[in-house]
Amino acid sequence: MFIGHYAVALAAKKAAPKPSLGTLLISAQFLDLLFPILALLGVEHVRPDPGNTAFTPYDFYDYPISHSLLTSIAWSIAFGLVYFAIRRDRKGSWVLGICVLSHWILDAISHGPDMPIAPGLSAYVGLGLWNSVPATVAVEGAMFLVGVILYARTTTAKDRTGTYAFWGLIAFLALVYAANAINREPASESAMGIVGLAALIIIFWAFWIDRHRSVIVATDLPKENAKPSSV
Ligand SMILES: [Zn+2]
Repeated sequence: MFIGHYAVALAAKKAAPKPSLGTLLISAQFLDLLFPILALLGVEHVRPDPGNTAFTPYDFYDYPISHSLLTSIAWSIAFGLVYFAIRRDRKGSWVLGICVLSHWILDAISHGPDMPIAPGLSAYVGLGLWNSVPATVAVEGAMFLVGVILYARTTTAKDRTGTYAFWGLIAFLALVYAANAINREPASESAMGIVGLAALIIIFWAFWIDRHRSVIVATDLPKENAKPSSV
């Protein structure tokens, strides 16, 4: 899954207003940030395989540290604990931990049966949403729309940057996703580098957006919308 993970991060802002959108993105994409590092180190492996599923031309045949259920649970607990140690935000820590784990669940829905249960176990799952491009785009597109609406309704722009940087990122993600959905060829190594760089830019972009938007709290609502306390 691709923009489905971004959708989770955007929607999570409503559940946990304190963490920056950048931190929420890191959590929802944490397994995919680990994977290229482990692949570069030669610990995990992927190979080009046009037609592996209708949606992706890669065979993810060895990634038990970044993408197994057992390690994902461990990463999610670790992420929540580290955030709590730094920020002392209990709710934020829970939501960030759940975001980390949500990545495995969404990947298990999208991928073919290549998602490991635990390192060293030859048990794999994957419901194969990627076998259908229209179904993948419909599910991820709907998730993305909901995520964008929730984030846009939970926060408000403090200035012009808060508006344009946010909608700019949404347009950028939608364009990249559309290009990704059309492309059936595996990327070259240099293109892989660009993809990695783009993932980092998106995270910094999200931190930048969050600094220019504030969370709408109930007291910001006009008085007439507030319920009388006696009812
Ligand atoms: Zn993944």
